[in-house]
Amino acid sequence: MDEHILITNIQRFSLHDGPGIRTTVFCKGCGLRCPWCANPENLESKPESYVKDGKQGVYGQHISCEELVREVMKDELFYRQHGWGEGLDALPGGVTYSGGEPLLQADRLEPALRALRDAGIHQCVETSLFVPTEKLELAMKYIDLFYVDIKILNAERCATVLHGDLERYLTNVRTLFAAGKPVVFRVPVIGGYTDSAENCKAVINLIKRYSPLKVELIKEHNLGQSKYISLGKTPLDLHTVTDAFMEEYKDEIVKSTGVLTEVCKI
Ligand code: SF4
Repeated sequence: MDEHILITNIQRFSLHDGPGIRTTVFCKGCGLRCPWCANPENLESKPESYVKDGKQGVYGQHISCEELVREVMKDELFYRQHGWGEGLDALPGGVTYSGGEPLLQADRLEPALRALRDAGIHQCVETSLFVPTEKLELAMKYIDLFYVDIKILNAERCATVLHGDLERYLTNVRTLFAAGKPVVFRVPVIGGYTDSAENCKAVINLIKRYSPLKVELIKEHNLGQSKYISLGKTPLDLHTVTDAFMEEYKDEIVKSTGVLTEVCKI
């Protein structure tokens, strides 16, 4: 198991990256460039120097799958303590691959995915799904629960704003649901980018078509400012939507699709 992956952090005792207590692995590298990205240190697929509070450092380190499995297994006991309740709350804790876009490294990650599956560890991924379908299919052999973003569903705007190929995304959504994989949709609601009436309608139609386990509406803020500055980049200046808008959006989704929907703040 000597494959190496590029990560920026392994965060233990995460409570917001899936069911129960989880270890979140932040993988470095993403093909998209969402203007609201709160993790600018995870965009480039190579280590990057930064300067913070006058000190130099590097975002990104290569870690072997063996080391990764060892780190994740340290908290095995805590993963198994959870898993009461119903639906998603009935699931145990485990590991969540986040990023960046973790599925871009699916092939290098495979030995760890396999080892953790064989050890009975619940595995989630947070993904944009803007990845080659074969990487998704590889991950589908091991991942128990997918958190999938719905961002911009107009092909032209998706390309110009996110640098993403909407057709590829939609193909991957179809692939996931055709295989019967459990999916939670996450919808970042960003003023001026994803909150237009046209986009909200398209999002609702997609949810209706696929009936995921749950929808999480994410009200994003201007996060990650210090990381932008440490990389010499301009910090975010987002227009945050109102709480009333989030509640109306949620009600509309529930009314139109019947899918359990929550407003989340990060
Ligand atoms: S998909 Fe996620 S990590 Fe990639 S640019 Fe968008 S917000 Fe950032």
